[in-house]
Amino acid sequence: MPYEKSRELFIQARQYMPGGVNSPVRAFKAVGRDPLFIARGEGALIFDEDGNEYIDYVGSWGPLILGHRHPEIIAALRTCLEIGTSFGAPTRLEIELARAIVEALPGVEMVRLVNSGTEATMSALRLARAYTGRNKIVKFEGCYHGHADFLLIKAGSGATTLGVPSSPGVPPNAAADTIVVPYNNLNALESIFTRHGHEIAAVIVEPVAGNMGVVPPVKGFLEGLREITQHYGALLIFDEVITGFRLSYGGAQELYKIDPDLTCLGKIIGGGLPVGAYGGKKHIMEKVAPEGPVYQAGTLSGNPLAVSAGLATLKVLKRPGTYEELERKSALLYQGMAEAAREAGLTLSFNRVGSMLCIFFTETPVVDYTTACTADTRRFAAFFQSMLEQGIYLAPSQFEAVFVSLAHTDEQIQKTVEAARKAFAAIKY
Ligand code: PLP
Repeated sequence: MPYEKSRELFIQARQYMPGGVNSPVRAFKAVGRDPLFIARGEGALIFDEDGNEYIDYVGSWGPLILGHRHPEIIAALRTCLEIGTSFGAPTRLEIELARAIVEALPGVEMVRLVNSGTEATMSALRLARAYTGRNKIVKFEGCYHGHADFLLIKAGSGATTLGVPSSPGVPPNAAADTIVVPYNNLNALESIFTRHGHEIAAVIVEPVAGNMGVVPPVKGFLEGLREITQHYGALLIFDEVITGFRLSYGGAQELYKIDPDLTCLGKIIGGGLPVGAYGGKKHIMEKVAPEGPVYQAGTLSGNPLAVSAGLATLKVLKRPGTYEELERKSALLYQGMAEAAREAGLTLSFNRVGSMLCIFFTETPVVDYTTACTADTRRFAAFFQSMLEQGIYLAPSQFEAVFVSLAHTDEQIQKTVEAARKAFAAIKY
């Protein structure tokens, strides 16, 4: 495939932006090649500046569960353009999105819209600290909750890919109150609570981890989190920035039947426009300003464009049969890829929860960050390159999810499986 235009654009981009990108993993560093510059998208397809076509399994890192340029989202955005793009004042649309979120998520009685997942987690934790009057928080190794200082500790995603689980510039004080525990390990959590239980404001967790590859919660893990936090008077925060409206209409909390105190959202609720949200029990959310004393604000929060795109997305997702269809497509891809790997004589650890998938290039079952790190990232890079050459666009890192959307057709999934067959055969050694 020709890549000249992308190459040329990358040279220009690097003159003006650090690493030529506005978010690190986009630079393709982990797979040892230059990134593609995307010109447009349609359904499950994206097209680069050289005119190459790809089946897209990144979906803008999760938001595009309906694919690119879904007609109902485009129509909602057009309508919004007629009324204005931002007022910094309350709008009717915000009530509609807030109501839709409250009705969908069992743990959410009130919600505040923000502009990104990072803002959502940062604000939820400020609220949790204010509500409990405690300072310490617990996060899990390999879970990513955005790039706020105190959460950028042993984070997954780009941080894992680049081998910098934390970052210079994070002051030791900011990290001092963050306790990191291995994912899926209740014993470790218990012993932390035994020592610090009365100081811990909250436990924040990705209910299905999606930033160290995909790692499902083992049986009893989420229930254990609920019990332990309740016992010690700490809040349980579900970071459903990825899983919200993806694993079911009511998110992971509906799927696993857990009632968290606070929930963080992003991605899908903005339909591809910048958005985030945090919400939870009324008696906690009422502490947020101006109702309560916990300050949090945003010039563009509740932005009509993002809210319109989000509402249109939720409207489509709420229709009967949507999640069954997403599950059918995801299972088709999973089964096809698993069989292709077997045929090539490869034993891989292949995790899937709904439309979140990850092929780990390791024979070790992946249940946490340590086991995720047993994956052979060089082998992943070779697999990625082969898939890209065959027109399949995967996330350029072993530690990211493959996202299936409702726009993927059975033919496109079949084509992906065929490509994987060739890619697995090519990387066998
Ligand atoms: N939480 C999770 C689980 C995420 O996956 C991400 C981003 O990928 C975030 C928080 C941060 O969201 P944003 O990139 O919108 O700031």
